[in-house]
Amino acid sequence: MTVTPDIHAPIEHTKLLIGGEFVDALDGKVFDTINPSTGEVITQVAEGSAADVDRAVAVARDAFENGPWRRMKPNERAAALWRLGDLLLADADEMGRVETLDQGKPFAFAKGGDVPSAAGLFHYMSGFATKLEGATIPISAPGNFHTYTRREALGVVGLIVPWNFPLTISAWKLAPALAAGNTVVLKPAEATPLSALRLGQLALEAGIPPGVFNVVNGYGSTVGQRLAEHPDVDKVSFTGSTATGRRILDSAKGNLKRVTLELGGKSANIIFPDADIEAAIAGSSAGIFFNAGQACAAASRLYVHDDVYDEVIAGMAEKARQIKVGDGFDPTSEIGPVASKEHFDRVSGYLEVGKGEGEVVTGGARLGERGYFIEPTIFAGAAPDARIIKEEIFGPVVVASRFSDTDDVIAQANDTRYGLASGVWTSNVSTAHSVAARIQAGTVWVNSYGVFDPSMPFGGMKESGWGREMGHDVMHDYTDVKTVCVNIDG
Ligand code: NAD
Repeated sequence: MTVTPDIHAPIEHTKLLIGGEFVDALDGKVFDTINPSTGEVITQVAEGSAADVDRAVAVARDAFENGPWRRMKPNERAAALWRLGDLLLADADEMGRVETLDQGKPFAFAKGGDVPSAAGLFHYMSGFATKLEGATIPISAPGNFHTYTRREALGVVGLIVPWNFPLTISAWKLAPALAAGNTVVLKPAEATPLSALRLGQLALEAGIPPGVFNVVNGYGSTVGQRLAEHPDVDKVSFTGSTATGRRILDSAKGNLKRVTLELGGKSANIIFPDADIEAAIAGSSAGIFFNAGQACAAASRLYVHDDVYDEVIAGMAEKARQIKVGDGFDPTSEIGPVASKEHFDRVSGYLEVGKGEGEVVTGGARLGERGYFIEPTIFAGAAPDARIIKEEIFGPVVVASRFSDTDDVIAQANDTRYGLASGVWTSNVSTAHSVAARIQAGTVWVNSYGVFDPSMPFGGMKESGWGREMGHDVMHDYTDVKTVCVNIDG
């Protein structure tokens, strides 16, 4: 059933979630959260400080050391996470409304994409709670030993997330962290705190004990930094820009906490002449314009073989012009605004840089006078060292280049400090696998783009980060291995 959300209905949770209670910041501060479709204030949200992080970490530590979560039977922990997935699905209308208000993305995508995707994470990861197994090891040291490994939770984990997929990226981190028995303090991005707070309420309803999942809203330079440097936090998992990732590393070095970094990207999407051109045009357009280009894996560098270049660029330009950009609550909108005024200014700056570095095929301007809307934009003809080819724009902006030689296009694709994702379009199975093997990126999509699943590990090579989200691999990032060596002769 299609429900038209009441965009003016009150927002239920706007405080900090600490120890199972929604509480004010210690100093009583609040900040505005803004609807990027209108530029208007949605509501005020408690603004945490370093002192609030300290209190949330103390609560999470106590919940880890003394609470039931880590000692629960694994199947009970699994059941609670599964219930959280179910509750999210049941809450899709309200969670979707909150996400669209705060982030701007079309309600149909928030409700029909982000919410089920986050729910899928809790369902999938719940299964690991019962499968965190070690190994028995036949050792050769003199004597008679029974040696085995245990996979143990790390302790208190800090999660710092960005504003492009506030709910989904929170779920990427939260679901495996909790499945392993850790306790968590989550810092949402300052632009988009609302869905994490609602998720906290649902977690309590699902039976996840108070203190296991805490949320402290606030700014990166205060709350984020304190979480990353806190001596009693055992691990920090961060998603955001590469520049902030470096700061997180600096902050984390005090107690040498474990660090996962999911950072920026400038992903190359390569179209060979033997590709299904219609599919390549559709997939490449969605690959860059989806979520107004605010996707770390966005297909932002497009390389098209000379033989099909004109056809592909004409097709993508037509698609770009047809995309309906508008308010997230207009049911005809296909993409919304970019998520904040600050980000709008940043992307607009790159549009001006691009006009000096290449030719505008389509787009290149803001849309309307209200809200933060940007035209889907294609640049072409920029030099390989142009800023629009080298730097992450994180907006609905793709830069197209020609190629004629496979070795050359692979060299161009890899000529970046990033290594997050890539696309290859070809009907030749040898080209598909050989190019996939040579691209330096954590994920390569062939004849598709942007396919995500809780079972697929996702993360970066090079300066796109350390570690993986999702799949089996993520559990290594939220657990430690302990070796137990028992002298069984006495
Ligand atoms: P950002 O780095 O500005 O902020 C991300 C988060 O870090 C926010 O919560 C912010 O408050 C916090 N933060 C800022 N300064 C901090 C500090 N000194 N210490 C601790 N925390 C701090 O990134 P953004 O602009 O919100 O997000 C866009 C970036 O995220 C892009 O570069 C994008 O590619 C990247 N991203 C990567 C992935 C991935 O999986 N690799 C996914 C989504 C987004």
